[in-house]
Amino acid sequence: MDKKALTPEVFNDLKIKAPAKNSAGFGGVSSAVGHASKYMNMVDALKLSFKINQKGGFDCPGCAWPDPDDERSSLGEYCENGLKAIAEEAQNKTIGHAFFAKHSVDELASWSDFELGKSGRLAEPLFLAEGESHYRPISWEDAFRKVATHLNALNNPDEAVFYTSGRTTNEAAFLYQLFVREFGTSNLPDCSNMCHEASGKALSETLGIGKGSVTLDDLYKAEVVMVIGQNPGTNHPRMLSALEKCKNNGGKIIAVNPLPEAGLIKFTNPQNPIKLLTGGTPIADVFVPLMINGDVAFFKSILLKLLEKEAETGRVFDKDFIDEYTHGYHDFIVDLKTYNFDDCLKAAGVSQAIFDEVFDLILNNNKIIICWAMGLTQHENAVDNIRELVNLLLLKGSIGKEGAGTCPVRGHSNVQGDRTVGIWEAAPQAFLDKIEAKYGFKPSAKQGYSVIDAIKAMYEKKAKVFFGVGGNFISAVPDTLYSAQALSNCSLTVHVSTKLNRSHLVTGKEALILPCLGRTEKDFQKTGEQVQSVENSMGIVSSTKGVLEPCSTDLLSEVAVVCGIAHATLKGRSNIDWLKYKADYNLVRDDIAEVVSGFEDYNKRLKIPSGFYLPNGARIRQFKTQTGKANFTLNKLPKWILKDGELIMMTIRSHDQFNTTIYGMNDRYRGIYNERRIIFMNRNDMKARHLKDGQVVNLKSHYKGKIRTANNFKVVGYDIPKSCCATYFPETNVLVPLESFAHTAKTPASKSVIITVEAS
Ligand code: SF4
Repeated sequence: MDKKALTPEVFNDLKIKAPAKNSAGFGGVSSAVGHASKYMNMVDALKLSFKINQKGGFDCPGCAWPDPDDERSSLGEYCENGLKAIAEEAQNKTIGHAFFAKHSVDELASWSDFELGKSGRLAEPLFLAEGESHYRPISWEDAFRKVATHLNALNNPDEAVFYTSGRTTNEAAFLYQLFVREFGTSNLPDCSNMCHEASGKALSETLGIGKGSVTLDDLYKAEVVMVIGQNPGTNHPRMLSALEKCKNNGGKIIAVNPLPEAGLIKFTNPQNPIKLLTGGTPIADVFVPLMINGDVAFFKSILLKLLEKEAETGRVFDKDFIDEYTHGYHDFIVDLKTYNFDDCLKAAGVSQAIFDEVFDLILNNNKIIICWAMGLTQHENAVDNIRELVNLLLLKGSIGKEGAGTCPVRGHSNVQGDRTVGIWEAAPQAFLDKIEAKYGFKPSAKQGYSVIDAIKAMYEKKAKVFFGVGGNFISAVPDTLYSAQALSNCSLTVHVSTKLNRSHLVTGKEALILPCLGRTEKDFQKTGEQVQSVENSMGIVSSTKGVLEPCSTDLLSEVAVVCGIAHATLKGRSNIDWLKYKADYNLVRDDIAEVVSGFEDYNKRLKIPSGFYLPNGARIRQFKTQTGKANFTLNKLPKWILKDGELIMMTIRSHDQFNTTIYGMNDRYRGIYNERRIIFMNRNDMKARHLKDGQVVNLKSHYKGKIRTANNFKVVGYDIPKSCCATYFPETNVLVPLESFAHTAKTPASKSVIITVEAS
């Protein structure tokens, strides 16, 4: 097994402080400025800070939180982690052949993820030949030829896997899926397979659209916002400004999560000098310390009490909405009555007193928004989690009206847009028909590989070429050692990347690194400077245009890479003039406008400074489901029982982390400094195992008789429900079984891993 895939099992110098009770403020400003000044040229940093998320500027390469439609702050429309993201991308060092001649792949594998990311921007294309220990330079032409040779040597196109991360713009993503489909496969796994796929499945079935229904304005006008299984303070920090605005307008916030997170306790808006001096705005009116995977039980306990009140008063449910817009109400109520309130509340691990506070808010308000993230989607029963929250919104009529609806918060800046423009292993037939009509070839209608399927196929040698645009595949996926073997089985692995990461070190027999422009950089092609576009979490498409000169003259844009590979691979058998798109991205958008609904007049509307909204049926109560209505669903309580000594583990990010990118070694809000090999445990669970803070332990996961191991973690006592624990990813992805994923959605169940903990 390829241990190069694992983060080195070495400790730094752990310091533990009390967890923060306030977020952002001076601490956030100084951390952001510290990163920018340490890793960037300050002139570049200043230029970027005036353009990030501004109208006509560039889209933050971090999360997918939307920007306000109206005025944007002249002080800066970004957060601490947005600035860390650009400090990572626009860092002032580059690496090329000299660096790779000096450092072998094996040596680089002994570096931490933080060190790899901070080694510098990749400056030229690189090739690792079979049996060699060092990457060496290769020309773009030869690199394209090599990819083409491998792809064309496959027995059939389904032996190739084409992965996409959420960084890829609409233009690059559309061309990429077009190339893959013309090549002859639907194998288009992407990072949404690992995050909100479960949301997409549940929302499509119940509301007819796999995206959220609310806008920023709805958040400002909501009476109640429930934030469940999400840590916005670290993962979507500007969401806290929206929650603050909601509170200022009289709204109430319910935070539901196994860990109390600083961002949901209090937020000190760095843009508000008075708040900076007076200490910020309390965010959560109620905090619910939910048991890991207690979500369905929690929602059922609310639903049962609402039903009881409805029977008493007849004024709790929105009957007009239910009658006119929904399907399945009667069956839902019959099923709900088979559950017992006390059992549900116990399974949720929530006290009666806290429940009563939550219930009071839900009962007495009708403009309710529910926001969520991976805390709900990364379980075997993830689809049920989301279907159950939709049941609650439907009963209250809290969908398709101002201040109410669904808000799945997307993690990577264009993960939603990539899916919209066709990065989908199971694209609808209507979309494939439009591709056929426009380009004159018949795309494969066979379901392609999701991430889980792709790993299995590579492991079983059914897939032999892995091509990834963006991301850090090996660090993002579950079951690290199995997945590493899968990649090693390939004849060729290719990564289109801006920086070095662990995926470049876990290779097939041959490997290529193709360095590309980042969001922050200008993109000049034959017809002049190009603009690209992205879609945020609320379905708004806007332009993004880099500001800095590229860090190397040997970089290509992702669009140019895709066109180059398509041209080299498909040659005379293509119906498409690939090189024309590379010269002028307006032509790509003209094609998207023809093929993808909602993009009519794309080039014209992209000039609207704040962007344009894509159609969203759920937002206007047009539910494009099979029944033509919003569907109630029947969801079961998940059945899992911990044996003696077992804990349920969820993987989390540190505050110095964005997806698999490690900005630093601290987790300031949780009081952790200079260490990532941490397990957060309830103090009673520590006591039962005679463990002390800082003690070194080994972790074992248990799934269907198979044990997986991750050694050398330090215990930190934390405010987390008994029997629950939390660890950072990617360090503990090795414990997440590949076979444990969301039913029907295949999102890895990284938030409910059964483990035991042993002193080392
Ligand atoms: S909230 Fe997200 S998109 Fe906005 S600046 Fe922060 S990381 Fe970037």
